[in-house]
Amino acid sequence: MSNAKILLVEDEPSLIETLDYSLRRQGYEVITATDGRKALGVARQQQPDLIVLDVMLPGLDGFEVCRILRQEMNVPIIMLTARTEEVDKVVGLEVGADDYLTKPFSMRELLARVKAMLRRVRIDREEAATNTATAPNLVTERMVFGDLVIDLSRREVTTQGSVHHLKPKEFDLLVFLARNRGIVLSRDLILERVWGWEFDGGSRTVDVHVRWLREKIEAEPSEPQRIITVRSIGYRFEG
Ligand code: CA
Repeated sequence: MSNAKILLVEDEPSLIETLDYSLRRQGYEVITATDGRKALGVARQQQPDLIVLDVMLPGLDGFEVCRILRQEMNVPIIMLTARTEEVDKVVGLEVGADDYLTKPFSMRELLARVKAMLRRVRIDREEAATNTATAPNLVTERMVFGDLVIDLSRREVTTQGSVHHLKPKEFDLLVFLARNRGIVLSRDLILERVWGWEFDGGSRTVDVHVRWLREKIEAEPSEPQRIITVRSIGYRFEG
């Protein structure tokens, strides 16, 4: 994937220049946007393979851009920030960033992260292609992770061919996790997306539903391989 298309969102001309040059030298195609709104437009139009997204941008900031794009596309996002507080990192993960670099960073470090991320995406795509090959008629309506099959049109979940009866929210939660495979999702974000803003049941609700889900889809619920607990943040779906 050396000719992958990378969208670079940054408002600092000297950094754009440096990053653009370094990425192109690696053989990547680079497109740039200098503020949040332009970034959204370019991302929608160009469908990049990866986005390098600065947090501090005029207009919409990087967190907002990330949050919006996450709802629309599955593109991996590496966030850049000048701030070092841990809270930024958590917010970055909450809005769905895949990786995180604090300025100043070395170009070598950024290139390594870009390369690793693109490799991961390529592996995922190859797996997806292999998986969909076994279900050619229902490509868009099923999500397949090994022996776990989520049938979106029938709202049905099976492992090793046996059907599990999921409550509506369990199903919604599983689909949300699966659509964000590999991404750390905070309990609050999960609550917001699966239960909605008005819900005030508290984040333990998420834990309870995860436990129920694990009992159904994990081979060994006490040692989950699919829905992983990320300490003090939330959960990550591994597939
Ligand atoms: Ca900036």
